[in-house]
Amino acid sequence: MNTLLPVASVGSLPKPSWLAKPEVLWSPWELEGAALVDGKQDALRIAVQEQRNRGVDIISDGEQTRQHFVTTFIEHLEGVDFENRETVRIRDRYDASVPTVVGAVSRKQPVFVEDAKFLRQQTDQKIKWALPGPMTMIDTLSDRHYKSREKLAWEFATILNQEAKELEAAGVDIIQFDEPAFNVFFDDVQDWGVAALERAAEGLGAETVVHICYGYGIKANNDWKATLGAEWRQYEKTFPLIQQSSIDIVSLESQHSHVPMDLIELIRGKKVMLGAIDVASEVIETPDEVADTLRKALQFVDADKLIASTNCGMAPLPRDVAYGKLSALSAGAAILRAELS
Ligand SMILES: [Zn+2]
Repeated sequence: MNTLLPVASVGSLPKPSWLAKPEVLWSPWELEGAALVDGKQDALRIAVQEQRNRGVDIISDGEQTRQHFVTTFIEHLEGVDFENRETVRIRDRYDASVPTVVGAVSRKQPVFVEDAKFLRQQTDQKIKWALPGPMTMIDTLSDRHYKSREKLAWEFATILNQEAKELEAAGVDIIQFDEPAFNVFFDDVQDWGVAALERAAEGLGAETVVHICYGYGIKANNDWKATLGAEWRQYEKTFPLIQQSSIDIVSLESQHSHVPMDLIELIRGKKVMLGAIDVASEVIETPDEVADTLRKALQFVDADKLIASTNCGMAPLPRDVAYGKLSALSAGAAILRAELS
């Protein structure tokens, strides 16, 4: 692996059209039964191969085995009714059909550990696995049992910690918690959000990431972003808390977003996974654009702590665009690496 400026995608990548309908978020599976199990593994193999071919250093599963980054995890837990789904408003922005908590939640068996073992077999490179963060989980369900966001978040943190420890034992090097909700519920982040996240990551030897973004490039998110003004300063509220936390790496948006670059100073000391690829546009960045973004970040983060990444997942993009963006990301990181060495 490159010691300087390693390249990593945030997580999701487009699925092959024979596995799920392309360019649709949370699209239903095209296969079932044993064919679905095989199909997911084949898709995961392709995702790994594409990442390696395109110069990605830290390999992820591209979320090929899950339909949704939050609900797929929740649906595997006890105490959750995922057949009688309810429609709730996600992050105060858009409606989605979600599972309902109807009793005490627990994890009777591992959720992603077999998939992670399979990923581990595919490569000797570092691997990263993404889990939803506790706050984003409670924002993506309906709760008829605990009736307290904080209480349920702590339950989920305990469950996530069990899963994370088994992922680590399966050979995962980096465990990422996706917390887009941290960009919305600032009081909760302060009161219990960061503490619940630390609980989820407690006792791990693997490096830990928190990914905080402005979401996929879907209409509801783009409409919301249009209301945020000329400067997006949401990170300003959460970064000082995260800087004080036990989390090792912060994954954030930069490319074409209105986040002032100097906010990175607020997490000085942490590794930074900088989004140098815009996932809300089908235009593939040039390597020079990527290098420019990374170069600007170096005013606020030490070079040995910078990881070149994407703003968010790329599941809804056309496959050639998503993989073209990964190539651009690697080429851009290579330009800057050459300058630095
Ligand atoms: Zn994201």
